[in-house]
Amino acid sequence: MTEYTKGLHEVADHVWGWLAPDGSWGWSNAGLIEGDRASFLVDTLFDLPLTAEMLAAMSEITDRSPITDALNTHANGDHCYGNQLLAPEVRIHATPLCRHEIHDVPPAMLHQLTTTDLGPELTPYVRRMFGAFDFSDITLREPDAGFETEATVTAGGREVRLVPLGPAHTGGDAVAYVPDAGVVFAGDLLFIGGTPVTWSGDLNGWIAACDTMVGWDPAVVVPGHGPVTDASGVLEVRGYLTHVRDGLDASIRAGWSWQEAADRIDLGPYARLPDSERIVITAYNVYRTRGVDQDESSVMDLVVQMSAWLRGRDAALS
Ligand SMILES: [Zn+2]
Repeated sequence: MTEYTKGLHEVADHVWGWLAPDGSWGWSNAGLIEGDRASFLVDTLFDLPLTAEMLAAMSEITDRSPITDALNTHANGDHCYGNQLLAPEVRIHATPLCRHEIHDVPPAMLHQLTTTDLGPELTPYVRRMFGAFDFSDITLREPDAGFETEATVTAGGREVRLVPLGPAHTGGDAVAYVPDAGVVFAGDLLFIGGTPVTWSGDLNGWIAACDTMVGWDPAVVVPGHGPVTDASGVLEVRGYLTHVRDGLDASIRAGWSWQEAADRIDLGPYARLPDSERIVITAYNVYRTRGVDQDESSVMDLVVQMSAWLRGRDAALS
């Protein structure tokens, strides 16, 4: 099994994962697939220094096989904010919804969030989430090409299948599948060793996406966050999603608000996963998507709620 250390790891013949422990907020993985004198990149990173560091580490490969195509697996900044560092001729692919959602959280919003004094409780929480990243000077480069159904891109004769599997984690999720190596780059359809979170609210869509990936019987699965895995990792995430879906279904039947649902849900075996407060975002989005609650909460509101959720949990434990 591939060691979970920072940097480039060859996970199959001429296929690499870029891994970024510990996989928490913003510490995302990426990937590189090398064909004959051309390469395909899966995702850029959360800021320009991190993306530059990754591209430099890849240069031994990309000097002989330049990147011709790339995929943004989805619109969260930790998978696309580094796009501007790719050469202009690199064709960046994404689903149409991803190209739309990419404007939901501009880098300037995160820059402001991390450089403003938000008070004694919130400031340390936000700094812990995003304080390690530099959101200044990012000009978001949009993906160039959209695909609504499965598309095959070849890089130096090597086939990379781009498969839309949203709505799941976001509306416009897609994964990259390299059939000749049995490798799946799952983006944030997989958080391994951490808590999944949905911005689209469609947990059934996400569970179906897990089933699709398992159906490919992949030898290697590189998640958006966490260590490299295989089909067993996909099933672990599926377990979390079904547990939370059933819990939120019960909360809706009980007439609880989404905040009560997040506070009272029994996370069972998943309570000890890092970043468990993400249940706040998931409950909010599931309720909204189902039309149960049309509350409008900003990203900032949700951050406030997550910080409060953690304080409540820590008080209950002590
Ligand atoms: Zn991510």
